[in-house]
Amino acid sequence: MTQCAKRKGGRQNLRRYDGTVVTRDEMTIRILPPDVAQKIAAGEVVERPASAVKELVENALDAGARQVQVEIRSGGLGLIRVADDGSGIPAAEAETAFLRHATSKLASAADLTSIRTLGFRGEALASIAAISQITLYTHHAEDDLGVTLTLEAGQVVARKPWAGPTGTTILVRNLFFNVPARLKFLRSATGEAGQIGHVIEQFALGHPDVRFRFLSEGRRVLETPGSGDLRDALRQVYGSEIADALVAIDETSESSHARVWGLISTPQVTRANRSGLSFFVNRRCITNLSLVYAVEEAYHPALLPGRHPIGALHLEIPPTDVDCNVHPTKAEVRIVNERAIYSLAHRAVRAALLQVAPLPEIGAPLEPASWIRGSALDAAPAELPGAGHRFDASGARGTETRGHEAAAQNHLSVSDQDTAASNAATTFEPSSAATSPPTGSDAPFRPTALRPVGQVQNTYIVAEGAGGIYFIDQHTAHERILYEEIVAQRSATRAPSQVLLAPVVVPLNARQRAALLEHGAELARLGFDLEEFGPDSFILRAVPPRLVRADLLQALRDAADALAGDVLAPDGTDRLAATLACHAAVRAGDALTLTEIATLLARLEETDVSRYCPHGRPVVVHLSVSQLERDFHRR
Ligand code: ADP
Ligand code: MG
Repeated sequence: MTQCAKRKGGRQNLRRYDGTVVTRDEMTIRILPPDVAQKIAAGEVVERPASAVKELVENALDAGARQVQVEIRSGGLGLIRVADDGSGIPAAEAETAFLRHATSKLASAADLTSIRTLGFRGEALASIAAISQITLYTHHAEDDLGVTLTLEAGQVVARKPWAGPTGTTILVRNLFFNVPARLKFLRSATGEAGQIGHVIEQFALGHPDVRFRFLSEGRRVLETPGSGDLRDALRQVYGSEIADALVAIDETSESSHARVWGLISTPQVTRANRSGLSFFVNRRCITNLSLVYAVEEAYHPALLPGRHPIGALHLEIPPTDVDCNVHPTKAEVRIVNERAIYSLAHRAVRAALLQVAPLPEIGAPLEPASWIRGSALDAAPAELPGAGHRFDASGARGTETRGHEAAAQNHLSVSDQDTAASNAATTFEPSSAATSPPTGSDAPFRPTALRPVGQVQNTYIVAEGAGGIYFIDQHTAHERILYEEIVAQRSATRAPSQVLLAPVVVPLNARQRAALLEHGAELARLGFDLEEFGPDSFILRAVPPRLVRADLLQALRDAADALAGDVLAPDGTDRLAATLACHAAVRAGDALTLTEIATLLARLEETDVSRYCPHGRPVVVHLSVSQLERDFHRR
């Protein structure tokens, strides 16, 4: 509600929502002094050190650089140094480059309809300069001599000739020194360094022909060869093991004059979040959830819920079909015919995956399962955002592809390791009324006195209980139990720890390293003994006892990925606990003794188990007595 107007002696005295009085003086409209206007504009472009680095590297690439070196101190807040071997700035234009709306990349509004450069607004240098101290060294190829400029809060304070090589080096010191409000919202120096590392990784994947070097606190974090081969760049970002396992995609669409190419992982190589999948439109790194869905859908049904592929996808689209001017930090673009482009990406990924291994197909083995009522296969296929293709295992058109959500729901049909199509025959629809536990579908599932019957396919536990037969996914059930335990432990003082016989060296990317450095104390509390080892690895000496038999390399990487994001997933799940629980739990395919099954069931009874594991997979499927009676025509 708006505030009341009080009349005093004929004059209005307005109070606004916070109780302050709106004075006449305040209401005078005036143009802000340039330094204030600059700081406001800077807030848009430069949200954090990583955004400054992004703009400076974009400038280097727009200048045709073959080598870009980025160096930071204190997470970029102390110093950012970006050096390139590009064209350089003409000495006569050096001051102009720091003015707002000063650019060499656009001349008229018409140019906005076919942007070919990463920058085009002419705002970045002015914005960064307004909130830092800058030294510029630049030498344009056609000038005899270069120039160096020093700026304080946007004002040039010194200018000298400079006799360096062709190219540009910019030093940004004390970013946000005059915007203390922004400083409060930044992460720790290691957190910011991690973000910068991520930005540079994306540039490296977007420009495999450029050599990138990134140093933080004097230590080399990333260096790419600039060979022009995307796999070489991916090797530096994700390590050889992952990069060498990626498969190439390349597909062109005549009708949309577009091409998609790149490298993507098989369903076996995944990670716990989406940060491993990068998209580039005409070399510009962009975020686009519809594209992510289109690509992940191509993995259906082989991708486990909560797992995401790794890779880099380049889209080449005529610049006239892309609007780059729709987002303050240029992180999103608009594409004419976007549905056709999503389809192209989907098709390209699908075709490449089918080449390396036929994907299990959920539609085919329907008949053998038809005696099961309420099968997940009965569910209507959901629409894929932006695409409606048909594929079957041979790559020919055939069965319907299913939507993302449906894929997650149908997960019971695909076990952890075994993706054989015949598994679909054992599928139940966990959320259908006919197969819900007697407590009702919304109430948490609390098994009462379950009697172990046995194990099916070394994957599902079969148990008998009051309401009929229960099929329990041994991995997800165990995962759920451990999740609750770990969440409880995170708030406790210190968990037990088990020293490893042989310490494990875990190579990590910049983002993962930063996350581990930032959350070291927390991990120690959970039972990890971790230490930095060389420039891009950690050495693991002790782990929580329940993890001893896990794949520690993958567990630590996934834990770092979980820590690099927000602590809680959008649905409130504790990401770190979910990751650790997943790695510590028994696997599908592990044979269990009846005693082990009984123990697991007993622990399940003690746990407040909702029917889904932390990754959203069903824990239990129930076949009621009345359902059996109906199926056997006893009723
Ligand atoms: P924009 O990139 O949108 O044009 P910027 O403020 O980032 O705006 O840069 C202003 C201008 O300064 C650019 O258009 C370019 O001409 C010049 N410039 C900036 N950085 C470099 C660089 N590293 N090499 C060559 N020219 C540069
Ligand atoms: Mg720029």
